[in-house]
Amino acid sequence: MRCPRCGDMRDRVIDSRLIQDGERIRRRRQCLDCATRYTTYETIEQIELLKDQYYQFAGWDVSTGNPTSGKLAELGLEWVSTL
Ligand SMILES: [Zn+2]
Repeated sequence: MRCPRCGDMRDRVIDSRLIQDGERIRRRRQCLDCATRYTTYETIEQIELLKDQYYQFAGWDVSTGNPTSGKLAELGLEWVSTL
């Protein structure tokens, strides 16, 4: 992390703790150059999980994002899969 005071990129983590039922990690960091302490938060990137759920809902292949052959047939677009 870039130090908010001096901009140095080097830091050390001085404390880590789980918060919000383990959904976030709070880390206290200290700049190795100017010794400023600051806090960062770490969470799981929810958008990737939501994207997979949306693809399944829409009838798209989760790995490629393309419509499945079943979905194309449902829409009367079987010919698209032969292109
Ligand atoms: Zn600093």
